[in-house]
Amino acid sequence: MNFDENEDVILLRRSISEFMKRFTEEYWRRCDENREFPQEYWEAAAQSGLLAITIPEEYGGAGLGMYEAATAMMEVARCGGGLAAGDLLMRTLVFGGVMINRHGTKEAKEKYLPKLASGRAICSFAHTEPNAGVNTFDIQTRAEKRNGGYVVNGQKIWITLAHKADFIVTVVRTTPKEKAKSKTHGISVMIIDTKQEGVKTFKIHGMAMRALTSNTVYFEDAFVPEENVIGEIDRGWTCLTTLFNAERISTSSISLGCGEYVLNKAVDYAKNRIIFGRPIGSNQAIQFPLAEAKAELEVAKLMTLKAAWLFDQGRDCAIEANIAALQAGRAAMKAADRAIQTYGGMGFALDNDIERFYRDIRLFKTAPVPEEMVLNLIATKLLQLPRSF
Ligand SMILES: Cc1cc2nc3c(=O)[nH]c(=O)nc-3n(C[C@H](O)[C@H](O)[C@H](O)COP(=O)(O)OP(=O)(O)OC[C@H]3O[C@@H](n4cnc5c(N)ncnc54)[C@H](O)[C@@H]3O)c2cc1C
Repeated sequence: MNFDENEDVILLRRSISEFMKRFTEEYWRRCDENREFPQEYWEAAAQSGLLAITIPEEYGGAGLGMYEAATAMMEVARCGGGLAAGDLLMRTLVFGGVMINRHGTKEAKEKYLPKLASGRAICSFAHTEPNAGVNTFDIQTRAEKRNGGYVVNGQKIWITLAHKADFIVTVVRTTPKEKAKSKTHGISVMIIDTKQEGVKTFKIHGMAMRALTSNTVYFEDAFVPEENVIGEIDRGWTCLTTLFNAERISTSSISLGCGEYVLNKAVDYAKNRIIFGRPIGSNQAIQFPLAEAKAELEVAKLMTLKAAWLFDQGRDCAIEANIAALQAGRAAMKAADRAIQTYGGMGFALDNDIERFYRDIRLFKTAPVPEEMVLNLIATKLLQLPRSF
């Protein structure tokens, strides 16, 4: 076993940290306050190749794996970009570089991957519906075969960046639940182009990830050509598990980057804030919770990188990716909470950015997968306890 990072990963991290110096805390704060898309970051990330890490070389990418993708998402978040910067990378690296690349048709790869790698297209991923969140099998968005393709009708909710997306990787039903041969049968995944009459988006003003914005999306006879089907019709669940694992690894990485960012700020503040004639950081009541947060972030990082490594070996990593998501989210939340406590009243000042990270980090306890569902998975799959639902 070798825990040493290879030279390429070290260089990648260094170059990202250098790259992120262009984007100040004020920049990210402004995007958040104004609910404004970080266009300059997006363009610069495209130019520097950050959007192309997992896209194969033949489509204009670097052909690297989830380990490098995780490293990149962690680093952009840690350098102040937080959830917005990390999530923007995830769109191309996971929804494109993993999902379309591993399971899409040749035509879809040729059509979408070069655009994603160069930042000329933005994509979203849609599975949540008003009546189907953690219960994906209850989705009602329906795709019917018609005119050499599929026609999609239904509604999705909370779809991040759908209002800016050129296409949405969408989970649909191609066989109604009551006629499906098994629990997972009847689910399919399709790439739906948004620049058509049948796709309408409406913004939701939420508490987290304000720079990106989530949306309600309506599909009304939206057309999907045959080549935009990802994986096999009715058997989309297989490729969805790939996406879910990669998404968990990504959000763990972003959580860890966010956690490190707030922790670093808290440590600096603890060293410099003088109360009762000495730095508050000399009190163990301030030190120990920060030390605990650091320890928990480090442990969660090991599990995240292990999951990414397994993913790149083509091995099952569902348990590891879910444990990583749970632990990274919790460790980051603890770091953010302790950062506010360390800052005292100043932790609530918008100019210190801690509250923005606090809001954003809170998301990871709920999305993309709520903690309860991770615990359900660990209990039933790893501990083989009876399923409760
Ligand atoms: C800011 C934001 C961005 C998002 N972006 C996207 C996106 O881009 N694409 C997308 O598809 N979705 C997105 N989502 C949706 C997100 O993935 C869902 O909110 C999440 O999966 C939970 O689904 P739900 O909200 O329907 O909760 P529900 O399914 O209604 O569950 C509510 C609560 O009950 C708990 N619960 C339910 N059943 C059980 C059980 N058997 N045991 C224990 N607890 C249970 C859940 O864990 C949860 O805490 C986003 C959400 C937010 C807030």
